[in-house]
Amino acid sequence: VKRIGVLTSGGDAPGMNAAIRAVTRVATNIGLEVYGIYDGYRGMVDGKIKQLTRESVSDILDRGGTILGSARLPEFKDIEVRKKAIEQLDKFGIEAVVVIGGDGSYRGALALTDMGVNCIGLPGTIDNDIASTDETIGFSTALNTVVDAMDKLRDTSSSHHRCSVVEVMGNRCGDLALFSGLSSGAEIVITSETGFDESEVLDRLREFDVVKKKNHALVIISEKITDVEIFARKVSQFTGFSGRATILGHVQRGGSPTPGDRVLASRMGEKAVDLLMQGVGGQCVGIQRGEIVGVPIEEALNMPSKSRKDLQNLFDRLV
Ligand code: ATP
Repeated sequence: VKRIGVLTSGGDAPGMNAAIRAVTRVATNIGLEVYGIYDGYRGMVDGKIKQLTRESVSDILDRGGTILGSARLPEFKDIEVRKKAIEQLDKFGIEAVVVIGGDGSYRGALALTDMGVNCIGLPGTIDNDIASTDETIGFSTALNTVVDAMDKLRDTSSSHHRCSVVEVMGNRCGDLALFSGLSSGAEIVITSETGFDESEVLDRLREFDVVKKKNHALVIISEKITDVEIFARKVSQFTGFSGRATILGHVQRGGSPTPGDRVLASRMGEKAVDLLMQGVGGQCVGIQRGEIVGVPIEEALNMPSKSRKDLQNLFDRLV
């Protein structure tokens, strides 16, 4: 392998730039040429491709987002579209590609590998919803952002006997909700794993008010579970708290990556280049029990999602 490409795909995540930098620096330092593919698979099809040097990735380690841009291209599932993408890669002499993104991006990477272009996936998503890695690039930063918001909400809600109902991201993975709940001392956390029984949650809130005499409550709900605005109104109606909904939204995706994300992205970027140099494709990089590993994408996509029963139990014992 002499020339590799790198792209970011799907939702952006802090730390993607650190991964792009690591891939570029590790590869160029061993004499490879690196090409940036802009706007994910869309840019691959359109030939939006430019060489990256060690200087092109200077001063990006601390920047959120992705300098390469990201996009979604549902048509990439179509083999004819992928053939066009491969024509572009051939035009630039790109023999292998590092794909930074979520599980959808992994499917694209596997499909390309099956067509003869070795690809390695790196887990770039704030959701931490990839089973083959204990942590994804961007999760630590998003968690920091969420906890910072929770701390601020608690200040104001305790001054007004309020219940803050906060929706956090996670795309059906409860990690951002549960980890931020543990970190901010929330009263209740609701994820797809805990389930949502509205009347039971309202009962518990009444208990916090009447029995435990709390002057504020923080309820964290993972996205895609319920309408937090409507639920907050029910809190006002059926408990002694005044319910206020906050949807944290896209602020969770932004910001300078934490040192944890920068180091993780750097280690994973290094592993991606090493795997490509060994002629490996169709794998994704993960961290498992502190060790950076390569896992076949096929296997990764079929792994059951991580159970958080132990952390949920801990949460319940801390309330
Ligand atoms: P996030 O976790 O942020 O949503 P993601 O990588 O899962 O990231 P998707 O939109 O699911 O985001 O996928 C990104 C892109 O990967 C798609 O827009 C598409 O171009 C490509 N892709 C997804 N699924 C496939 C597939 N089955 N075959 C080929 N390409 C795919």
